[in-house]
Amino acid sequence: MSKRDYYDILGVDRSAQGDKLKKAYRKLAMKYHPDRNPDDSSASEKFKETTEAYEVLSDPSKRSAYDQFGHQGVEASGFNSGRSATDAFNDVFGDIFGDIFGGGDPFSRSRRSNRGSDLEFSLRIDLENAVKGTTEKIRIPTLQSCESCSGSGAEPGTQPSSCPSCQGAGQVRMQQGFFSISQTCRQCGGSGKIITNPCRKCRGNGRVEKTKTLSVKIPAGVDSGDRIRLSGEGEAGPSRGPSGDLYVQIKVLSHEVFERDGQHLYCEAPISFVDAALGSEIEIPTLDGKVKIKIPEGTQTGKLFRLKGKGVKKIRSSAVGDLLCRVTVETPQKLDSKQKALLKELGSSLKQKKNSPLSSAWFGKVKSFFDSK
Ligand SMILES: [Zn+2]
Ligand SMILES: [Zn+2]
Repeated sequence: MSKRDYYDILGVDRSAQGDKLKKAYRKLAMKYHPDRNPDDSSASEKFKETTEAYEVLSDPSKRSAYDQFGHQGVEASGFNSGRSATDAFNDVFGDIFGDIFGGGDPFSRSRRSNRGSDLEFSLRIDLENAVKGTTEKIRIPTLQSCESCSGSGAEPGTQPSSCPSCQGAGQVRMQQGFFSISQTCRQCGGSGKIITNPCRKCRGNGRVEKTKTLSVKIPAGVDSGDRIRLSGEGEAGPSRGPSGDLYVQIKVLSHEVFERDGQHLYCEAPISFVDAALGSEIEIPTLDGKVKIKIPEGTQTGKLFRLKGKGVKKIRSSAVGDLLCRVTVETPQKLDSKQKALLKELGSSLKQKKNSPLSSAWFGKVKSFFDSK
């Protein structure tokens, strides 16, 4: 089979340069990309052919060799050295193709095709376990290698036979002029083997659906959104291919008492109006048990108390966050007549400037605001 002219392949005239070349290649590569034509091997050949044409014509030295001596000229100039087809492809598409097609290298598809799929499992854990670390048992439905045939797909006692099309290589090589192109064998799908007597348990698939139980070690300090990768715990690959990975996605449940913000924990504690005024000692909860904090005399509502090192240990580090406790002064409710009388007596004894400096300052500001009008 004779090779087609590179200019014809890209559909450009012999003077086409730079952007014009790029545009022509981009259009054709999008059309023939293997991800868009998964079952069409002629598209994959066309994709390789256009990439090769672009690779040569976009390289000034290869192009001049081609213009003078044709396909032989490119071969003689050392076609396989320097820039590869993947480089040429990436020049034009860069990361964009990754976004469209999921980032696979279109030139090495066959090697990856029998890896099992990755799995994702969402795991909800409570705050205490997220902070201290734990081991969780999870059950995941997955495809596992068939035990009956050890994943071969052939009925026990029988052997898969070597594929007659590729003699067991999984790839067929095609000679096109000076180029020898490797292609995944269509008869065996690249495995090199043909099952003549399929396993009854997995019907020749080599994999069976199974729920497996795994113990997952959760390191101390994980937070919502963290992902733990368990290499090789995803689906088994077809034809004894390597297994995919399992990703455990962490979701930390909200807690009754604590709110978490990264390494720090927050909580709120109500204190009585008397404790706030006279000062006191209160007990507040931490993840390691209760601790006492001193409420100084004259504490205002909203005051934040910081307990160093009572927060969350950072994952894979010894740095520990703090616990921040905000006190809220509770106004007494449902007072009886005696209590009311006592409060009234207290009220009349209070001097605004001395006993309530905040109110006094505030009234001062309001007064000057009105006076300035
Ligand atoms: Zn089987
Ligand atoms: Zn084959």
